[in-house]
Amino acid sequence: MSAVCSDCAKPLAVNPRRKGTRCVACAARHRQSNLSAGERAAIAARCSAAWNVPGYRERVAASASEGQRRRMSDPVELAKVQANCRRAQSMRTGQSAESRRKISRATTEQYLGWCPVAYRPLYRSLVKSNKLRAAEAREAVFESMRVDLRRLEREHRRATCSGAILAAQALAVQITALRGILESKSGEN
Ligand SMILES: [Zn+2]
Repeated sequence: MSAVCSDCAKPLAVNPRRKGTRCVACAARHRQSNLSAGERAAIAARCSAAWNVPGYRERVAASASEGQRRRMSDPVELAKVQANCRRAQSMRTGQSAESRRKISRATTEQYLGWCPVAYRPLYRSLVKSNKLRAAEAREAVFESMRVDLRRLEREHRRATCSGAILAAQALAVQITALRGILESKSGEN
């Protein structure tokens, strides 16, 4: 048996049950990359079916928090986590306020670039308090945009008919922006 992983050349831990020549991470990657599209789809379908079984998410959450609680009751584990927190804290305080803001903006853009700023609080509240999955919350946000678009279009018609030109113009700007976002979303699917 080889002493190093045949893929990444990292030293292999002693494991009498190992059948191949790869480390755990490389073996997983290897299995993944050899899946056909059909096998991938079957795995995805199994996962999402399991995820949608009533009570399943609650059980996962409960067992995760139970595991976390057990881990934190171990003084050694607790000390590790606390050390990590302190390190993160000192890294943060080592950064300027401006660079912290920049990092936080970049992170937000990475996750929420698709979501107009005005809808971000809605998205966050859907994910946090309503416990929707990201994809479901995203759909809900788009649905809310569609509802808003229809309302703005009604208001725009009313403003135009009553000759409120400035109000109509302001509404037209919002309508154009929302339509653009919704169109690029439907182009995505
Ligand atoms: Zn490896």
